Amino acid sequence: MRIIIDSGHGGKDPGASGFGMKEKDLNLIFANLLATELEKLNIDVDRSLINDNYYSAKELTDLIKSSGSSICISCHNNAFDGTARGFEVIHSIHTNGTLAKLIIEEVKKTSFKVRRAFSRESTLPSNAGEDYYYIIRLTYPDVETIIVEFGFMDNAADFKLLTDPAWQKKLTTAVATGISNYITSNSIGKTSILGDPVLTPDQLKSGLRAVNKSFDTGIVDLYYNISKIYGVKADLAFIQAIHETNWLRFTGVVKPEQNNFSGLGATGPNNPGLSFPTPEAGVEAHIQHLYAYATTTPLPKGRILYDTRFSLVRRGSAPNWEDLNGKWAVPGIGYGEKIIEMHKNINEKYPNETPSQPVTPENPVENQPTHWAKICHDELTAAGLLYSDHTSTLDEPASKGIVFCLVNRIRKELMKDE
Ligand SMILES: [Zn+2]
Repeated sequence: MRIIIDSGHGGKDPGASGFGMKEKDLNLIFANLLATELEKLNIDVDRSLINDNYYSAKELTDLIKSSGSSICISCHNNAFDGTARGFEVIHSIHTNGTLAKLIIEEVKKTSFKVRRAFSRESTLPSNAGEDYYYIIRLTYPDVETIIVEFGFMDNAADFKLLTDPAWQKKLTTAVATGISNYITSNSIGKTSILGDPVLTPDQLKSGLRAVNKSFDTGIVDLYYNISKIYGVKADLAFIQAIHETNWLRFTGVVKPEQNNFSGLGATGPNNPGLSFPTPEAGVEAHIQHLYAYATTTPLPKGRILYDTRFSLVRRGSAPNWEDLNGKWAVPGIGYGEKIIEMHKNINEKYPNETPSQPVTPENPVENQPTHWAKICHDELTAAGLLYSDHTSTLDEPASKGIVFCLVNRIRKELMKDE
């Protein structure tokens, strides 16, 4: 989640004024302090628009949209008739104003006068149903932009506080706290993409086998091994893969030979999307795409970037599965929730039978219980019917080919006796 801070006005546009001070100069102070306060809260801040440059409406909003930020805070100060005073936040008519309200709540605690949070619809017929303020209108819906009016610089009481470094810090700290609370509240009740898996590989293998017997369940292990490198929840990533590929039966536009398990770049019959040379590369590209959405952190050291669509993702814009709605899938209503629901169903249908006992014995050979099929395996080997050691894969499904070969070997043995 990145936040871009804009210092309102600049260059040939001074904005409002009060007591001999230009608004653009006061905005610059607030914008810099706000960026610092947000950074203290470990929030990723883009400072590229904190400057004294003049931008046209299009230039400014294009820069905001291409910044990879989810939220834009445009810092301003008001002027009216000298009597009006107080702090205001303007939000989009398309939002419920939660971000604005959470900021207002914090500013109230400072005892600085608070006027209101509000939104304003355009009065121009050509912009009907859209926001009045261009910075909000032209960045919607890519970026959630708000305008923060710290105070009225033509009001003597406000001006005194607005130019007092102690109050500047108090106000920007309050705004930063409100923004941080908003980011947290946005994640409540959602399921993070990053973290440890809840399901075991065996649970997912059982689920896969029940629906699609022919696909090698080793893919589950690939998901677990690669997800671990990126800190992505392997179980949900794999469930997304079975959701996207119809349980690896590839009944949609993506074909199995593409090794594209998550529909990367696939948009329709004429565009089946990306292809990868191996299942490993395909799984890693999938995990990289999730990682792009979930965090702004660079790729783990030494990893090759397989996901050629990585740079198209607004980094950190979807830290939760539910946030992928409208992003990974368009329109994607309920997309993330569907994956969470599949996760719950698999966990209920194929409960974890080996609860949290990671088998890392000091002497694995001694401590490992004998598999029920081990004797059969050894006897078949002794009889010359099995040619290699399969003891580590006794729970894996066998392909038809393997079964036919084995049955045929037995048939030949029986023929010999006759
Ligand atoms: Zn302004």
